[in-house]
Amino acid sequence: MPSFSRIMDSARRFKGSFVPDQHSAAPQRHLVVVTCMDARLDLFRLLGLEIGDSHIVRNAGGRVTEDVLRSLVLSSNVLGTSEVVVIHHTGCGLFGRDNDELRDEIASITGADCSTIDFHPFDDVTESVRQDVAAIEACPLLPNVISVWGAIYDVATCELIPVD
Ligand code: ZN
Repeated sequence: MPSFSRIMDSARRFKGSFVPDQHSAAPQRHLVVVTCMDARLDLFRLLGLEIGDSHIVRNAGGRVTEDVLRSLVLSSNVLGTSEVVVIHHTGCGLFGRDNDELRDEIASITGADCSTIDFHPFDDVTESVRQDVAAIEACPLLPNVISVWGAIYDVATCELIPVD
């Protein structure tokens, strides 16, 4: 497992410079970022974040699913965050796909039934951001979230474009 060996080597090196108890579990900037798992998104550099600043909740597409809401509810009510930013991006693997096509593709690889999974594909990245911001704003378990905003990250130009 070459990746595992590289990860363990890195962890040993990192431990050498690690300062324990430097940060609390509550994000210092009271911020949560919801975004895609895409490997090209360097959120720390893009958003000027440091360790301890923000929760980061990632999944395929950065879609606000029930499980993302679960994380937001804990983040806000237990760990004091009050601002959420939803970032989707150009070139997303879920863009222009549909559930049936994805289900067929995965069933043909695995031989297993995935007909009940919603992969949350989308055809319009601005609209997907708006939908997910609206889902957070509509959640009754997030009364302490005072700001929710959305943006699109352009992977080709490194621009972060706010969505109204
Ligand atoms: Zn993506």
